[in-house]
Amino acid sequence: MEKIVLYNTLTRRKETFEPINPEHVGMYVCGPTVYGDPHLGHARPAVTFDLLFRYLQSLGYKVRYVRNITDVGHLEQDADDGEDKIAKKARLEQLEPMEIAHYYTERYHDAMRELGVKSPSIEPHASGHIIEQIEMVKRILDAGYAYESNGSIYFDVEKYNKDFHYGRLSGRNLDDIVTNTRELDGQSDKHHSFDFALWKKAAPEHIMRWPSPWSDGFPGWHMECSAMSTKYLGEQFDIHGGGMDLMFPHHECEIAQSTAALGKDSARYWVHNNMITINGQKMGKSLGNFITLEQLFTGNHPILEQAYTPMTIRFFVLQAHYRSTLDFSNEALQAAEKGLDRLMKGIETLAKLKPADKSTADVSELERRCKEAMADDINSPMVISALFDWVRIINQAAEGGQSFTAEDLETLKGIVNRYVFDILGLRNEKAADAGGKDMVSPLVDMLLNMRMEAKANKDWATSDKIRDNLTAIGIRVKDRKDGFDWEIE
Ligand code: ZN
Repeated sequence: MEKIVLYNTLTRRKETFEPINPEHVGMYVCGPTVYGDPHLGHARPAVTFDLLFRYLQSLGYKVRYVRNITDVGHLEQDADDGEDKIAKKARLEQLEPMEIAHYYTERYHDAMRELGVKSPSIEPHASGHIIEQIEMVKRILDAGYAYESNGSIYFDVEKYNKDFHYGRLSGRNLDDIVTNTRELDGQSDKHHSFDFALWKKAAPEHIMRWPSPWSDGFPGWHMECSAMSTKYLGEQFDIHGGGMDLMFPHHECEIAQSTAALGKDSARYWVHNNMITINGQKMGKSLGNFITLEQLFTGNHPILEQAYTPMTIRFFVLQAHYRSTLDFSNEALQAAEKGLDRLMKGIETLAKLKPADKSTADVSELERRCKEAMADDINSPMVISALFDWVRIINQAAEGGQSFTAEDLETLKGIVNRYVFDILGLRNEKAADAGGKDMVSPLVDMLLNMRMEAKANKDWATSDKIRDNLTAIGIRVKDRKDGFDWEIE
């Protein structure tokens, strides 16, 4: 298998990727909590790990990609207290919590399909894995790293920290965490404010509850990922991913839970995508800059100057390296829209290039650059920059400034298809939108061939008339050295 490097958040350096099984890769990514419409913040991790999934598959790995659905136990403010976010929404809308979870799971799937995000191999729901979570809580209790208090089970962070290091992933020490957490108010069942819930006894009004050896209650939010990754990927697996915002406390707690229960690190490579900011600010409901994906696709939001297509959003995300911050603005998205259009037009032009006797540029250069960029911590912006350089060369070829043999043209098309469509996961929306373009194309070609004949007969009036009429209905005609080219504006 080809050698690639990934940045491992756990060791804070790029490492050569070596999966446990040389042909299979196990990858776990924290999925959405399904209590609201999918938003811009969901797009980045989804596209980032879709890119990694597609890339690993393209290298020949069999990838088992597990992305969970959080439909239980995710409390307000990510704290151990408060109301379950899904139950709260259910109460407000007078629905069953599972109706809320199902509805927003469907909304999430729809948005992901639009964004060209492939479905994972397994999509386990937390609510369907309560037994596995209870079993793991038992293992942590048996290992001595948790305690029961009033029907709830808490992770004993201090004890764990004596044997292992709590805070390894996020680079914290327990001392820093102690100074940064508020003191207990005396009402809590926890020994320390930094201890976190593995199982919570449900208050009488709490709807989502299951029986357990300790109480009728529900698992702590961090439990599901430890339990489900172990169930589907084994006690040790290759990649664990998610947004940087999940690093602490969520992933830190996952590491502690798995280490406590299994006696070892479960994930070998931790991969985190950076966040999307909006005009330099964090996205938040209170800031008025919270944009759902549907609002982006329709343009229906006060800060949006226009609608942006799903592929524009995908391209926008891919244009930045996943570990860099990405700032959303209308200007940035408009630039992405233009860039994507240029790329797709270049591909359409490539399809129409006529072969020549010799090639004036080395097509393997594009492949080498794309390959090196992807192998270097999935550097999608570098892939895009190589593709743009080649769009320029393709456009020159259409004007007669470059040429390619038939064999090189086929190779070039293969490289472009592989990187643009298979790996970056883009699609040509304009071609698809035109819908009837399959019908339109032969008709326009027929008219333009008639125009060529008219020109050959020096019948300039007919030639101009055809071109002007096509222009009037939005079809731009370009004369080429050996014929013509056209596009729908
Ligand atoms: Zn998780």
